[in-house]
Amino acid sequence: MKLPPRVNNVTTRHLPVKLIRSRLQRPVASITFDDFPRSAWIEGSRVLQRHNARATYYTAGRFCGQFEDGLEYYTTEDLRQIHDTGHEIGCHTYSHRYGTDVDSAALHADSNHNQAFINEVLGDYRLTSFAYPYGDASPRTKLLFSRRFATTRGIRPGVNAGLVDLAQLKAIGVEYRSWDRAAIESAVAQAVRRIGWIVFFTHDVSDSPTPYGATPDMLDYALSCVRAVGIDILPVKDALARTAFG
Ligand SMILES: [Zn+2]
Repeated sequence: MKLPPRVNNVTTRHLPVKLIRSRLQRPVASITFDDFPRSAWIEGSRVLQRHNARATYYTAGRFCGQFEDGLEYYTTEDLRQIHDTGHEIGCHTYSHRYGTDVDSAALHADSNHNQAFINEVLGDYRLTSFAYPYGDASPRTKLLFSRRFATTRGIRPGVNAGLVDLAQLKAIGVEYRSWDRAAIESAVAQAVRRIGWIVFFTHDVSDSPTPYGATPDMLDYALSCVRAVGIDILPVKDALARTAFG
């Protein structure tokens, strides 16, 4: 059964698949890059270094070595360097399709394909963090991916605090199309107040970004806001460990 999108979104959001009570002792932040364009590594890592931050790169295998719509995507050598410098590689499916349009067997096969691709490049590396392509999820895909991965990240805005839905982590966009300094500041204030986990997401990092990407200054601003109040910036898997175990 295919639910109308709005009903589907509400049902999916409230489906209690993997709720945990946060055991964070202090707030934490993660910065994540989806797909990912090569500039997220080349330009993005310069900003990350300034803030002593390690990121999660949600990788879809089909983009490797590609040049599409004016964007250059990561290479296998980039993946090795990202891994070697302590960042996390996450799963973003191999084919990067709307998951709700794909049957469950094909979704499993596609996730296996992405894992095999990563193993070819990085050897014995297990993908444990997942982000839904386009943020697209349904009750069926939420169940499916949350069984395969420790966390699955959506694009619904908010800070993860109190009862945290690991099957659909909330996230704050750092995107040119919706750039709003006040929204970043308010999310950081909320994370401090509620001892929460902020997950930022973006795509390319460039002085002339796509609508879904960020300038280096935008990324720097978001990370400066969290560092200014002493919040650590950790890959998703490390922030999860703190959230689950304190
Ligand atoms: Zn994506």
